[in-house]
Amino acid sequence: MNAEPSTATSTGTSPGTSTDRRDPAGAPARTHQWRGVIEEYRALLDIPAGTPAITLREGGTPLVHSEWLSGLTDAEVWLKVEGDNPTGSFKDRGMTAAISVARHQGAEAVVCASTGNTSASMAAYAAKARLKPLVLVPEGKIAAGKMAQAIMHGARVIMVRGNFDDCLRLAKGLAEEYPVALVNSVNPVRLEGQKTAAFEIVDFLGDAPDFHLLPVGNAGNIAAYWLGYRQYADLGLASRRPVMRGFQAAGASPLVTGEPFPDPETKATAIRIGNPASWHLAVAARDESGGRFAAVSDEQILEAQRALASHDGVFVEPASAAGVAGMLAELEAGESYAGSSVVVTVTGHGLKDTVTALEGFASGGGSIVDTVVDAEVAAAARAAGLD
Ligand SMILES: *Cc1c(COP(=O)(O)O)cnc(C)c1O
Repeated sequence: MNAEPSTATSTGTSPGTSTDRRDPAGAPARTHQWRGVIEEYRALLDIPAGTPAITLREGGTPLVHSEWLSGLTDAEVWLKVEGDNPTGSFKDRGMTAAISVARHQGAEAVVCASTGNTSASMAAYAAKARLKPLVLVPEGKIAAGKMAQAIMHGARVIMVRGNFDDCLRLAKGLAEEYPVALVNSVNPVRLEGQKTAAFEIVDFLGDAPDFHLLPVGNAGNIAAYWLGYRQYADLGLASRRPVMRGFQAAGASPLVTGEPFPDPETKATAIRIGNPASWHLAVAARDESGGRFAAVSDEQILEAQRALASHDGVFVEPASAAGVAGMLAELEAGESYAGSSVVVTVTGHGLKDTVTALEGFASGGGSIVDTVVDAEVAAAARAAGLD
Protein backbone atom coordinates (compact mmCIF):
# COMPACT_ATOMS: atom_id res chain seq x y z
CA MET A 1 0.00 0.00 0.00
CA ASN A 2 0.82 3.60 -0.26
CA ALA A 3 2.37 3.88 3.17
CA GLU A 4 4.60 0.82 2.76
CA PRO A 5 6.75 1.05 -0.34
CA SER A 6 9.11 -1.84 -0.72
CA THR A 7 12.45 -0.06 -0.68
CA ALA A 8 14.13 2.32 1.69
CA THR A 9 14.60 5.20 -0.73
CA SER A 10 13.49 8.20 1.23
CA THR A 11 12.43 11.40 -0.43
CA GLY A 12 10.09 14.16 0.45
CA THR A 13 10.27 13.68 4.22
CA SER A 14 8.22 16.17 6.12
CA PRO A 15 9.60 16.35 9.64
CA GLY A 16 7.03 17.02 12.28
CA THR A 17 4.00 15.89 10.32
CA SER A 18 4.26 12.20 11.06
CA THR A 19 6.32 9.95 13.27
CA ASP A 20 7.65 6.46 12.79
CA ARG A 21 5.79 4.43 15.38
CA ARG A 22 8.57 1.86 15.41
CA ASP A 23 10.95 4.45 16.84
CA PRO A 24 10.46 4.54 20.60
CA ALA A 25 12.69 7.59 20.94
CA GLY A 26 10.33 9.60 18.76
CA ALA A 27 13.11 10.65 16.41
CA PRO A 28 12.16 12.64 13.29
CA ALA A 29 10.04 10.68 10.85
CA ARG A 30 11.42 8.90 7.82
CA THR A 31 8.51 8.82 5.44
CA HIS A 32 8.75 6.82 2.25
CA GLN A 33 7.13 8.25 -0.82
CA TRP A 34 5.17 6.02 -3.19
CA ARG A 35 7.37 5.75 -6.28
CA GLY A 36 4.75 5.62 -9.02
CA VAL A 37 3.35 2.53 -10.72
CA ILE A 38 6.41 1.63 -12.82
CA GLU A 39 8.87 1.44 -9.94
CA GLU A 40 6.36 -0.13 -7.55
CA TYR A 41 5.48 -2.93 -10.00
CA ARG A 42 8.25 -2.96 -12.63
CA ALA A 43 8.87 -6.73 -12.46
CA LEU A 44 5.22 -7.36 -13.37
CA LEU A 45 5.00 -4.93 -16.29
CA ASP A 46 5.75 -5.80 -19.90
CA ILE A 47 7.80 -2.73 -20.77
CA PRO A 48 11.31 -2.75 -22.26
CA ALA A 49 13.96 -3.50 -19.62
CA GLY A 50 15.86 -0.47 -18.46
CA THR A 51 13.20 2.06 -19.46
CA PRO A 52 13.67 5.01 -17.09
CA ALA A 53 10.36 5.94 -15.46
CA ILE A 54 8.89 9.34 -16.24
CA THR A 55 6.62 9.67 -13.23
CA LEU A 56 4.48 12.12 -11.32
CA ARG A 57 4.03 9.49 -8.56
CA GLU A 58 0.75 8.24 -10.01
CA GLY A 59 -1.12 5.27 -8.53
CA GLY A 60 -1.22 4.29 -4.87
CA THR A 61 -4.74 5.72 -4.86
CA PRO A 62 -7.04 5.16 -1.91
CA LEU A 63 -9.53 2.34 -1.66
CA VAL A 64 -12.27 4.08 0.31
CA HIS A 65 -14.85 2.00 2.13
CA SER A 66 -18.37 3.17 1.25
CA GLU A 67 -20.61 2.88 4.29
CA TRP A 68 -23.46 4.16 2.13
CA LEU A 69 -23.23 1.50 -0.61
CA SER A 70 -22.27 -1.23 1.86
CA GLY A 71 -25.42 -0.42 3.83
CA LEU A 72 -27.59 -0.48 0.71
CA THR A 73 -26.21 -3.79 -0.54
CA ASP A 74 -25.38 -5.67 2.65
CA ALA A 75 -21.98 -6.18 1.03
CA GLU A 76 -18.52 -4.70 1.58
CA VAL A 77 -18.27 -2.00 -1.07
CA TRP A 78 -15.02 -0.16 -1.77
CA LEU A 79 -14.40 2.80 -4.04
CA LYS A 80 -11.11 2.89 -5.95
CA VAL A 81 -10.71 6.66 -6.09
CA GLU A 82 -8.75 7.31 -9.27
CA GLY A 83 -9.43 11.04 -9.20
CA ASP A 84 -6.59 11.16 -6.67
CA ASN A 85 -4.03 10.61 -9.42
CA PRO A 86 -1.71 13.52 -10.33
CA THR A 87 -3.84 14.87 -13.18
CA GLY A 88 -7.12 13.72 -11.64
CA SER A 89 -7.90 10.50 -13.53
CA PHE A 90 -6.71 6.90 -13.91
CA LYS A 91 -5.21 7.85 -17.27
CA ASP A 92 -1.96 8.70 -15.45
CA ARG A 93 -1.26 5.01 -14.79
CA GLY A 94 -1.07 4.19 -18.48
CA MET A 95 0.49 7.49 -19.40
CA THR A 96 3.58 7.09 -17.20
CA ALA A 97 4.22 3.83 -19.07
CA ALA A 98 3.48 5.14 -22.56
CA ILE A 99 5.50 8.34 -22.15
CA SER A 100 8.42 6.56 -20.49
CA VAL A 101 8.64 4.10 -23.38
CA ALA A 102 8.16 6.79 -26.05
CA ARG A 103 10.95 8.87 -24.47
CA HIS A 104 13.26 5.87 -24.13
CA GLN A 105 12.70 4.98 -27.79
CA GLY A 106 13.66 8.46 -28.91
CA ALA A 107 10.30 10.08 -29.66
CA GLU A 108 10.24 13.85 -29.76
CA ALA A 109 6.50 14.37 -30.04
CA VAL A 110 3.45 12.46 -28.84
CA VAL A 111 -0.15 12.54 -30.04
CA CYS A 112 -3.48 11.38 -28.67
CA ALA A 113 -7.17 11.61 -29.37
CA SER A 114 -9.06 12.47 -26.24
CA THR A 115 -12.40 13.18 -24.63
CA GLY A 116 -10.32 15.28 -22.21
CA ASN A 117 -8.55 13.23 -19.56
CA THR A 118 -6.10 11.46 -21.84
CA SER A 119 -4.96 14.82 -23.20
CA ALA A 120 -4.64 16.31 -19.70
CA SER A 121 -2.54 13.35 -18.61
CA MET A 122 -0.46 13.12 -21.79
CA ALA A 123 0.33 16.82 -21.70
CA ALA A 124 1.53 16.64 -18.09
CA TYR A 125 3.77 13.60 -18.63
CA ALA A 126 5.04 14.99 -21.94
CA ALA A 127 6.01 18.20 -20.14
CA LYS A 128 7.88 16.16 -17.53
CA ALA A 129 9.60 14.17 -20.30
CA ARG A 130 10.27 17.26 -22.47
CA LEU A 131 8.27 15.85 -25.38
CA LYS A 132 5.95 17.91 -27.58
CA PRO A 133 2.29 17.04 -26.84
CA LEU A 134 -0.25 17.17 -29.65
CA VAL A 135 -3.91 16.70 -28.73
CA LEU A 136 -6.97 16.01 -30.93
CA VAL A 137 -10.32 16.67 -29.26
CA PRO A 138 -13.92 16.76 -30.51
CA GLU A 139 -14.99 20.36 -31.00
CA GLY A 140 -17.01 21.81 -28.13
CA LYS A 141 -17.21 18.59 -26.12
CA ILE A 142 -14.34 18.95 -23.68
CA ALA A 143 -14.90 19.92 -20.04
CA ALA A 144 -13.24 23.24 -19.20
CA GLY A 145 -10.99 21.81 -16.48
CA LYS A 146 -9.50 19.20 -18.79
CA MET A 147 -8.92 21.70 -21.57
CA ALA A 148 -7.17 24.02 -19.10
CA GLN A 149 -4.90 21.18 -18.03
CA ALA A 150 -3.83 20.36 -21.59
CA ILE A 151 -3.20 24.01 -22.38
CA MET A 152 -1.30 24.77 -19.17
CA HIS A 153 0.98 21.76 -19.69
CA GLY A 154 1.87 23.11 -23.10
CA ALA A 155 -0.12 20.93 -25.47
CA ARG A 156 -0.93 21.97 -28.99
CA VAL A 157 -4.71 21.45 -28.88
CA ILE A 158 -6.47 20.82 -32.18
CA MET A 159 -10.26 20.74 -32.23
CA VAL A 160 -11.81 18.38 -34.74
CA ARG A 161 -15.21 18.68 -36.36
CA GLY A 162 -16.27 15.18 -35.37
CA ASN A 163 -16.43 12.89 -32.36
CA PHE A 164 -13.80 10.98 -30.37
CA ASP A 165 -13.79 8.13 -32.85
CA ASP A 166 -12.91 10.58 -35.65
CA CYS A 167 -10.13 12.03 -33.48
CA LEU A 168 -8.67 8.58 -32.88
CA ARG A 169 -8.65 7.84 -36.60
CA LEU A 170 -6.75 11.09 -37.20
CA ALA A 171 -4.28 10.41 -34.38
CA LYS A 172 -3.49 6.99 -35.83
CA GLY A 173 -3.04 8.54 -39.26
CA LEU A 174 -0.66 11.21 -37.95
CA ALA A 175 1.40 8.60 -36.08
CA GLU A 176 1.68 6.49 -39.23
CA GLU A 177 2.77 9.30 -41.52
CA TYR A 178 4.70 11.68 -39.25
CA PRO A 179 7.33 11.36 -36.50
CA VAL A 180 4.94 11.38 -33.56
CA ALA A 181 4.24 8.52 -31.13
CA LEU A 182 0.63 7.52 -30.49
CA VAL A 183 -0.22 7.15 -26.79
CA ASN A 184 -3.90 6.23 -26.90
CA SER A 185 -4.81 2.96 -25.21
CA VAL A 186 -4.49 1.14 -28.55
CA ASN A 187 -0.82 1.42 -27.52
CA PRO A 188 -0.50 -1.80 -25.44
CA VAL A 189 1.97 -0.14 -23.07
CA ARG A 190 -0.89 1.99 -21.72
CA LEU A 191 -2.71 -1.13 -20.50
CA GLU A 192 0.48 -2.35 -18.81
CA GLY A 193 0.45 0.76 -16.65
CA GLN A 194 -3.29 0.73 -16.08
CA LYS A 195 -3.42 -2.86 -14.87
CA THR A 196 -1.56 -1.78 -11.71
CA ALA A 197 -4.90 -0.58 -10.28
CA ALA A 198 -5.95 -4.23 -10.01
CA PHE A 199 -2.64 -5.07 -8.28
CA GLU A 200 -3.19 -2.31 -5.72
CA ILE A 201 -6.70 -3.54 -4.96
CA VAL A 202 -5.55 -7.12 -4.33
CA ASP A 203 -2.53 -5.91 -2.34
CA PHE A 204 -4.86 -3.90 -0.12
CA LEU A 205 -7.76 -6.35 0.29
CA GLY A 206 -5.53 -9.43 0.50
CA ASP A 207 -7.41 -11.05 -2.39
CA ALA A 208 -9.46 -10.08 -5.43
CA PRO A 209 -13.00 -8.86 -4.73
CA ASP A 210 -16.01 -10.92 -5.81
CA PHE A 211 -17.21 -8.18 -8.16
CA HIS A 212 -15.58 -5.25 -9.91
CA LEU A 213 -17.78 -2.50 -11.39
CA LEU A 214 -16.56 0.37 -13.55
CA PRO A 215 -17.50 2.87 -16.26
CA VAL A 216 -16.62 1.83 -19.81
CA GLY A 217 -15.92 4.09 -22.79
CA ASN A 218 -13.06 3.15 -25.08
CA ALA A 219 -12.76 -0.01 -22.93
CA GLY A 220 -9.03 0.19 -22.24
CA ASN A 221 -9.58 0.31 -18.50
CA ILE A 222 -11.74 -2.79 -18.16
CA ALA A 223 -9.27 -4.64 -20.38
CA ALA A 224 -6.38 -3.49 -18.20
CA TYR A 225 -8.07 -4.46 -14.92
CA TRP A 226 -8.77 -7.90 -16.31
CA LEU A 227 -5.13 -8.24 -17.39
CA GLY A 228 -4.04 -7.31 -13.85
CA TYR A 229 -6.45 -9.63 -12.06
CA ARG A 230 -5.56 -12.53 -14.33
CA GLN A 231 -1.85 -11.96 -13.83
CA TYR A 232 -2.17 -11.89 -10.03
CA ALA A 233 -4.27 -15.06 -10.05
CA ASP A 234 -1.77 -16.81 -12.35
CA LEU A 235 1.07 -15.84 -10.02
CA GLY A 236 -0.84 -17.14 -7.01
CA LEU A 237 -1.08 -13.64 -5.54
CA ALA A 238 -4.89 -13.85 -5.62
CA SER A 239 -7.04 -16.93 -5.10
CA ARG A 240 -9.74 -15.79 -7.52
CA ARG A 241 -10.73 -13.26 -10.17
CA PRO A 242 -13.69 -10.94 -9.88
CA VAL A 243 -16.82 -10.86 -11.99
CA MET A 244 -16.40 -7.78 -14.21
CA ARG A 245 -19.41 -5.52 -14.77
CA GLY A 246 -19.00 -2.55 -17.11
CA PHE A 247 -21.44 0.33 -17.38
CA GLN A 248 -21.90 2.58 -20.38
CA ALA A 249 -24.01 5.69 -20.92
CA ALA A 250 -27.23 4.74 -22.70
CA GLY A 251 -26.46 7.17 -25.54
CA ALA A 252 -23.04 5.59 -26.09
CA SER A 253 -23.48 1.90 -25.27
CA PRO A 254 -22.09 -0.15 -28.17
CA LEU A 255 -20.90 -2.95 -25.89
CA VAL A 256 -24.44 -3.37 -24.61
CA THR A 257 -26.17 -3.36 -27.99
CA GLY A 258 -23.35 -5.07 -29.88
CA GLU A 259 -23.34 -2.34 -32.56
CA PRO A 260 -21.16 0.79 -32.91
CA PHE A 261 -22.92 4.11 -32.23
CA PRO A 262 -22.26 6.51 -35.15
CA ASP A 263 -23.37 9.52 -33.07
CA PRO A 264 -22.66 8.81 -29.41
CA GLU A 265 -24.29 11.31 -27.07
CA THR A 266 -24.06 11.69 -23.29
CA LYS A 267 -23.30 14.35 -20.69
CA ALA A 268 -20.69 11.94 -19.35
CA THR A 269 -18.20 13.14 -21.96
CA ALA A 270 -15.36 10.85 -20.83
CA ILE A 271 -17.36 7.83 -22.02
CA ARG A 272 -18.91 9.44 -25.10
CA ILE A 273 -17.43 6.84 -27.44
CA GLY A 274 -19.28 4.98 -30.16
CA ASN A 275 -16.73 2.41 -31.28
CA PRO A 276 -14.40 1.30 -28.46
CA ALA A 277 -10.81 0.58 -29.50
CA SER A 278 -10.53 -2.28 -26.97
CA TRP A 279 -13.87 -3.84 -27.93
CA HIS A 280 -12.56 -7.42 -28.23
CA LEU A 281 -10.53 -7.27 -25.03
CA ALA A 282 -13.56 -5.92 -23.17
CA VAL A 283 -15.80 -8.70 -24.45
CA ALA A 284 -13.14 -11.25 -23.42
CA ALA A 285 -13.05 -9.74 -19.91
CA ARG A 286 -16.82 -10.01 -19.72
CA ASP A 287 -16.97 -13.59 -20.98
CA GLU A 288 -14.00 -14.97 -19.05
CA SER A 289 -15.23 -13.41 -15.80
CA GLY A 290 -18.91 -14.28 -16.20
CA GLY A 291 -19.66 -10.56 -16.22
CA ARG A 292 -21.77 -8.24 -18.31
CA PHE A 293 -22.24 -4.77 -19.76
CA ALA A 294 -25.28 -2.63 -19.03
CA ALA A 295 -26.42 0.90 -19.86
CA VAL A 296 -27.37 3.72 -17.50
CA SER A 297 -29.14 6.96 -18.42
CA ASP A 298 -27.55 10.38 -18.02
CA GLU A 299 -30.11 11.07 -15.32
CA GLN A 300 -29.04 7.99 -13.37
CA ILE A 301 -25.39 8.94 -13.81
CA LEU A 302 -25.85 12.50 -12.54
CA GLU A 303 -27.98 11.30 -9.64
CA ALA A 304 -25.31 8.78 -8.65
CA GLN A 305 -22.68 11.54 -8.92
CA ARG A 306 -24.62 13.72 -6.46
CA ALA A 307 -25.35 10.84 -4.09
CA LEU A 308 -21.71 9.77 -4.00
CA ALA A 309 -20.58 13.31 -3.24
CA SER A 310 -23.15 13.88 -0.50
CA HIS A 311 -23.07 10.41 1.14
CA ASP A 312 -19.43 9.43 0.83
CA GLY A 313 -17.56 12.71 0.43
CA VAL A 314 -16.19 11.59 -2.92
CA PHE A 315 -16.72 14.07 -5.77
CA VAL A 316 -16.24 12.48 -9.17
CA GLU A 317 -16.88 13.62 -12.71
CA PRO A 318 -20.11 12.40 -14.37
CA ALA A 319 -18.60 9.49 -16.34
CA SER A 320 -16.90 8.28 -13.18
CA ALA A 321 -20.24 7.72 -11.48
CA ALA A 322 -21.47 5.23 -14.11
CA GLY A 323 -20.38 2.22 -12.03
CA VAL A 324 -22.23 3.48 -8.96
CA ALA A 325 -25.26 4.34 -11.12
CA GLY A 326 -25.16 0.79 -12.48
CA MET A 327 -25.05 -0.72 -9.03
CA LEU A 328 -28.02 1.39 -7.87
CA ALA A 329 -30.00 0.42 -11.00
CA GLU A 330 -29.26 -3.27 -10.40
CA LEU A 331 -30.43 -3.01 -6.78
CA GLU A 332 -33.62 -1.35 -7.95
CA ALA A 333 -34.15 -4.23 -10.40
CA GLY A 334 -33.92 -6.69 -7.52
CA GLU A 335 -30.30 -7.84 -7.95
CA SER A 336 -28.32 -8.71 -4.84
CA TYR A 337 -24.70 -8.27 -3.84
CA ALA A 338 -25.38 -9.41 -0.27
CA GLY A 339 -22.44 -10.99 1.49
CA SER A 340 -19.90 -10.25 -1.24
CA SER A 341 -16.97 -7.87 -1.61
CA VAL A 342 -17.29 -5.30 -4.35
CA VAL A 343 -14.90 -2.71 -5.77
CA VAL A 344 -16.30 0.16 -7.81
CA THR A 345 -13.76 2.25 -9.70
CA VAL A 346 -14.55 5.96 -9.77
CA THR A 347 -12.36 7.07 -12.62
CA GLY A 348 -11.84 10.85 -12.41
CA HIS A 349 -12.15 13.93 -10.23
CA GLY A 350 -15.31 16.05 -9.97
CA LEU A 351 -13.43 19.34 -10.23
CA LYS A 352 -12.70 18.69 -13.89
CA ASP A 353 -16.27 19.48 -14.90
CA THR A 354 -18.11 21.59 -12.36
CA VAL A 355 -20.53 22.96 -14.95
CA THR A 356 -22.16 19.59 -15.64
CA ALA A 357 -22.13 18.73 -11.92
CA LEU A 358 -24.03 21.87 -10.98
CA GLU A 359 -26.42 21.51 -13.92
CA GLY A 360 -27.18 18.01 -12.70
CA PHE A 361 -27.62 19.29 -9.16
CA ALA A 362 -30.10 21.92 -10.30
CA SER A 363 -32.04 19.59 -12.60
CA GLY A 364 -32.26 17.12 -9.71
CA GLY A 365 -34.22 19.74 -7.78
CA GLY A 366 -31.33 21.11 -5.75
CA SER A 367 -31.11 24.87 -5.27
CA ILE A 368 -27.73 26.46 -5.87
CA VAL A 369 -26.75 28.81 -3.05
CA ASP A 370 -27.78 32.32 -4.02
CA THR A 371 -28.76 33.92 -0.75
CA VAL A 372 -26.78 37.06 0.04
CA VAL A 373 -27.00 38.50 3.54
CA ASP A 374 -25.53 41.42 5.42
CA ALA A 375 -22.44 40.53 7.47
CA GLU A 376 -24.39 39.93 10.69
CA VAL A 377 -24.79 36.75 12.74
CA ALA A 378 -28.56 37.18 12.97
CA ALA A 379 -28.94 37.53 9.22
CA ALA A 380 -26.74 34.50 8.54
CA ALA A 381 -28.65 32.45 11.11
CA ARG A 382 -31.96 33.39 9.52
CA ALA A 383 -30.68 32.45 6.05
CA ALA A 384 -29.34 29.15 7.40
CA GLY A 385 -32.66 28.29 9.02
CA LEU A 386 -31.06 28.16 12.45
CA ASP A 387 -33.51 30.46 14.19
C1 LIG B 1 -11.14 7.52 -19.95
C2 LIG B 1 -12.18 7.59 -18.93
C3 LIG B 1 -13.20 6.62 -18.80
C4 LIG B 1 -13.35 5.48 -19.76
O1 LIG B 1 -12.29 4.57 -19.70
P1 LIG B 1 -12.03 3.61 -20.95
O2 LIG B 1 -10.72 2.99 -20.69
O3 LIG B 1 -12.03 4.51 -22.15
O4 LIG B 1 -13.16 2.65 -20.99
C5 LIG B 1 -14.10 6.74 -17.79
N1 LIG B 1 -14.04 7.76 -16.91
C6 LIG B 1 -13.09 8.71 -17.00
C7 LIG B 1 -13.08 9.80 -16.00
C8 LIG B 1 -12.12 8.64 -18.00
O5 LIG B 1 -11.20 9.60 -18.07
